This record gives sequence, C-alpha cells and structure tokens, in this order.
Amino acid sequence: MTIPTYLDEFNPPQRILMGPGPSSVNPRVLQAMTLPVLGHLDPQFFQVMDEVCEMLREVYHTENYMTVPLSSTGTGAMEAACANVLERGDRVIICRNGFFGDRLGDIAERCGAEVIILDFEWGAPVDLQELSDALDRHGPVKAVGVVHAETSTGVLTPMPEVVDLVHRHNALIIVDAVTSLGGHDVRMDDWDIDVCYGATQKCLGAPPGLAPISFGPRAMEVINTRPSKVQSFYFNLKDLESYWNQTRAYHHTTPISMTYALRESLRMMMEEGIDNRIRRHARVAGALRSGLEALGIGLMAAEGYRLNPLTTALIPEGIEDGAVRSRLLNDFNIEIGGGLGQVRGKAWRIGLMGESARETNVFAFLSALEQILPDLGYEVATGASLSAAQRALVDYDDGGVLP
Ligand SMILES: *Cc1c(COP(=O)(O)O)cnc(C)c1O
Repeated sequence: MTIPTYLDEFNPPQRILMGPGPSSVNPRVLQAMTLPVLGHLDPQFFQVMDEVCEMLREVYHTENYMTVPLSSTGTGAMEAACANVLERGDRVIICRNGFFGDRLGDIAERCGAEVIILDFEWGAPVDLQELSDALDRHGPVKAVGVVHAETSTGVLTPMPEVVDLVHRHNALIIVDAVTSLGGHDVRMDDWDIDVCYGATQKCLGAPPGLAPISFGPRAMEVINTRPSKVQSFYFNLKDLESYWNQTRAYHHTTPISMTYALRESLRMMMEEGIDNRIRRHARVAGALRSGLEALGIGLMAAEGYRLNPLTTALIPEGIEDGAVRSRLLNDFNIEIGGGLGQVRGKAWRIGLMGESARETNVFAFLSALEQILPDLGYEVATGASLSAAQRALVDYDDGGVLP
C-alpha cells in the first residue's frame, strides 16, 4: 500500500519571488500571522482594524473615511470598484494598455455597464489626447477606468493629468494601483482620485489575500444616492461600511490572520518611511534595467514610463522562455513571470516588489541569467550585467539619477 503524500509535512523551498506577485514576505509579517485568532467582533480586533485603516490612509495619502482592506485579492477589488459605482446602462470608458485594463473592461461589462474600450499600444502609457477625444466623442460617461501600473507591460501611466481630464468631463476616475501602491507614489487626495485599489501581495509586503481600497467623496456621493441595489452582496460598500465604521455590524468574517499580516507589513512601511520605500524600489529597478541592457536584453516599456516594481524584458531571439524560467526556479530558486496575453513567450516580467525589492535579489538574478543564457546559445560577457547594475546603484546614490 502506498502512503498518500498528504500525510507528509509540507516544506516549501525558500524561493526568491521576483515575479509579478506574490512578492517575498518578511518573517516579521509571517510571524504576525501566527498570533492567536481573535473574533472579528472582538474589541481588541477593532483596534487592529482601526490601525490598519489609519496606515492605509498614509499609504494612499488620503483622508477618505472609506479606506479599508477588502477580503479578496486585487481582482475582488476591481469587482468592488465597478459594482459599487456602476449601474446597469452606465456608459464607461476603460483604457486598455495591457492585460489588466482588459480585465477591468470585462468586469465593468459584467456589472451591466456599456463599456467603451480605448486601446493603447502594449508598452505605452494612456495617451491623454486620445482619451480626451474619446470623452468628447462618447460623452457624457459615468466613469473612466485606468490601470496606474500595468503589470503585464511594465508601464506607469502618469495619473494627475488623466484625473484632471476625466473630471473636466464630469466623470469618475477608477484607478487600479495594485502594482503601484507601496512601490510608486499614489496620491489619492492630491490627485483627486475617486476610487483606487491595491493588493497585499505586490508592493505592500504581505501574502495575497486582502485588497485595500479607498473611495473619495464623489464616489461616496454616487454610491449613497444610487437608486439600484449593488448587485454584489459581498462587496456592497454600505454594508462593509457598517462593519468598518463604529457600528461594527457583522457582514462577513474578515480574514483575521491576514489582517494581522497587513498590519505588520504596513508597520514596517511606516518604520521605513513611504518615500524611502519608493526610492528603494527606484534604486534597485534602475540597477536591474542597467544589468539587462548590458546583456543586450531590450525592455518592453517605453522609456520614461517604466515601472520600478516590475520590469518587462524582451526575450532574446531564439531563447525559449520556459527553459530559462524553469532553470531559474529549479537551479537558483528564483521565480520570475512569463508574458501575459499578447506577449506570452516574448517577454519576462521581473518583479522587485516590497520585500523583494533588494539589491541582493538583482545581483542573484543577473548572475543566474549570466550562467543560464550561454548554455542556451546566447553568449554574454561574464560579469557585464553585474558591474552595470553596480554602477547604476552608485550613480543613483551619487545623484538620484535613474537610467
Ligand atoms: C495583480 C494585479 C491585479 C489582480 O490582482 P490579484 O491579486 O491577482 O487578483 C489587478 N491589477 C493589476 C495591475 C495587477 O498587477
């Protein structure tokens, strides 16, 4: 008789998580998850909830009252954003410059909205003029959805101008900040964003499982005065509000241990300082980009619009995607991501998010790549990427310049 493997203890390897998320989790955060589980209506847990919300407001740079972690991953937050502000028949424009813009359009459509998809080249940011023309042509629209940091292409769309434009057309702006929150500046109030959401497993440094979301005054007004019921029970903001505000009315059992994890990861962010953390992401991303370029590997994202938490590298001609990624994983314990959608097999997605955004990871990855590529027939000058990365770090420290 064979003994089933599920009777064995599970001992996962210590991977270096450098994909598009999840990112590595600091032991302090993992340890927080082993604390005793409290009830979701325990006054001591209420204090944890309040502290988490307070720190989330810091991260978002907002005073929005409804700034809470949803019990879901980022995709659930996309559903929550759409379900609460959109009603059947509402016209919305979704900017699609990658995979997650596509998903946002799908979700808005499932909420009954009339969705106008505005396509931009993969690798480019949202173009203001094209968005402006679309708003003129299709107006009035209820809302515009934009992905701040497109994790499929590695592109950052500068937000303040987009938000201004959308508001001049009296529409709400929904911003996907899943990969930017905690890794790039996200300024909810200064930029005047109406709905903005993130996820714990990217730059916030916690495991996957919660999705912070924030609703501004315009969005709250729309939600408070909508005639129709929100079609999602689970993500209905008014009910969630009654749990997260002082009423503390039961809605669903919030994931207690994940809330501890988020509290600890945010506490670590407060200790480091949000701006320092954003600079840390910029510094190591610059080193990675320099290292890749020294190997003759091109970058997919347009210059000037490159994300720091995620770099999309163009796989050199003749190199098989899977062969490199499986060797990285099996021989070096390094996980990176493959291309999504249009760029499947053509690009690598290399994440430096949260706890993973460390220069040691950049060097480990580049060194591994220098060992793998020659075996696949792609010659490299040994050490070239490492010294390029090193130079970039020194240059950054000297003057804060980014390659
Ligand atoms: C990862 C990601 C999501 C989806 O989040 P999940 O946690 O996988 O559900 C949404 N938008 C962007 C930009 C992302 O990077």
